[in-house]
Amino acid sequence: MFDLLKQACDTAKKAGCRFADARYLDLHRQQVSSRDLALSNCSESDDRGFGVRVLYNGAWGFASSPGYTSEEVDNVVALAIRIARASAMAPREGGVNWAPQQALKLAFKSKCIQDPFDVSLEDKADLLISANQVMLKNNSVIRAQGYLLFKRVQRWYVNTEGSELTSDVTSSESVIWAIAVGNDDFQERNWKAPSTSQGFEAYKKEEFLIQAERVGAQAEEKLSARLSPEGDFDIVTDSENLSLTIHESVGHATELDRVMGYEVSMAGSSFVTRDKKGEFQYASDKVTLMADNTLENGLATQGFDDDGVPAQRWEIVKDGIFQTYSTGREFAHYIGEEHSRGCCRADHWSSIPIVRIPNLFLMPGKEPLSPDELIGDVKHGLYFEGMDSFSIDQRRLNFQFGGNAVWEIINGKKAGMLKAALYQSRTPTFWNACDATCDENYWRPHGVINCGKGDPMQIAQMTHGAAPTRFRKIRICRGRDS
Ligand SMILES: [Zn+2]
Repeated sequence: MFDLLKQACDTAKKAGCRFADARYLDLHRQQVSSRDLALSNCSESDDRGFGVRVLYNGAWGFASSPGYTSEEVDNVVALAIRIARASAMAPREGGVNWAPQQALKLAFKSKCIQDPFDVSLEDKADLLISANQVMLKNNSVIRAQGYLLFKRVQRWYVNTEGSELTSDVTSSESVIWAIAVGNDDFQERNWKAPSTSQGFEAYKKEEFLIQAERVGAQAEEKLSARLSPEGDFDIVTDSENLSLTIHESVGHATELDRVMGYEVSMAGSSFVTRDKKGEFQYASDKVTLMADNTLENGLATQGFDDDGVPAQRWEIVKDGIFQTYSTGREFAHYIGEEHSRGCCRADHWSSIPIVRIPNLFLMPGKEPLSPDELIGDVKHGLYFEGMDSFSIDQRRLNFQFGGNAVWEIINGKKAGMLKAALYQSRTPTFWNACDATCDENYWRPHGVINCGKGDPMQIAQMTHGAAPTRFRKIRICRGRDS
């Protein structure tokens, strides 16, 4: 498989390119969806092709093709160089400052015990439809749905520096949800099975049935939930809810390309300007946010990035202080770092790599602390579970987040469910209000599977995570009136 990729790099080098890399991808995907007591969709697809990126005359060119032949490789290299030549007519100030990287030889494979593509359709249908059956037992649940999505991405990468890399990553995701209808109201409650770089072994029927029982009953319960109070309250978030807040208010905010203005046209930019590096009080001293592309089963764990840089682990926020950004080879120099953090990924063989959020999670508390103890120290507050609608401004500063289920906390105990609750804050205000997070026994990972970025839009996946966490005096508002 490497031969034609090497041919691409050799040809580019001979043509005078300072750097070139070539990447072949084989994408296999299967989705099975259910609605009530039937399957609503089954699809399976294969998608293969290659892309060549060249740095020529101080400018980038990229081209790609599904036709993997020697002749087509030459055509694609020639096209990439023509594009670079055209790009060089509008040169960037200072040119491209490409961080050095030693040549690597590496073969990465994710752990997959039970290949999901070998599991029968009957077993997959049984998992989803059994869960739907359980959710539909509730009288007000009028619709139960779910899906399973499996992907296998095989990647071969070669560059003019002599790197030869392969990765083979199988990942799985699944969501089930129930919709309950009452008088003038409807409510949805879902359960996201772990999205993970694992095979079918990640999904157990017993677990789906337990979660279906809970989700169905809670969809019904949401119909009679009280409207949320408004004002300043202490809040507790579960790991899934906080994962999305981490993603939006820390992950995107600390992508260096965004900080440097590369993403402004797509709700880009960031308040985390370069003068904040190593100094800014992003959060309270209870907060350490770890980037880790070596995380076992993480959705961004793939051995190396599409700049040919190996996966790394580093602190983005340490004991509350902002440390550094997610970077690629083109960006490291802007913050005086010699090497890339290995965050450039492309979502397809026809896409150019861009800086993506790594696996990024809140470290668990160092002292023993259970969720009951965490909630026990809240007089009157709200408990947010799961993800719901949210919004955040383009500088990643002002935001609001809902929850898929929200409970009132009264005198240290979860009381009834609430409707339409949103927490509203500014990123540093929110994170500085964090006064405790539970210990490692309660830490859970959560995948974000549809992170959109770039123009044209690319969709990436990564894993976040947290233990249940408490924030003091956060503004609560209602997403609706009644
Ligand atoms: Zn995103």
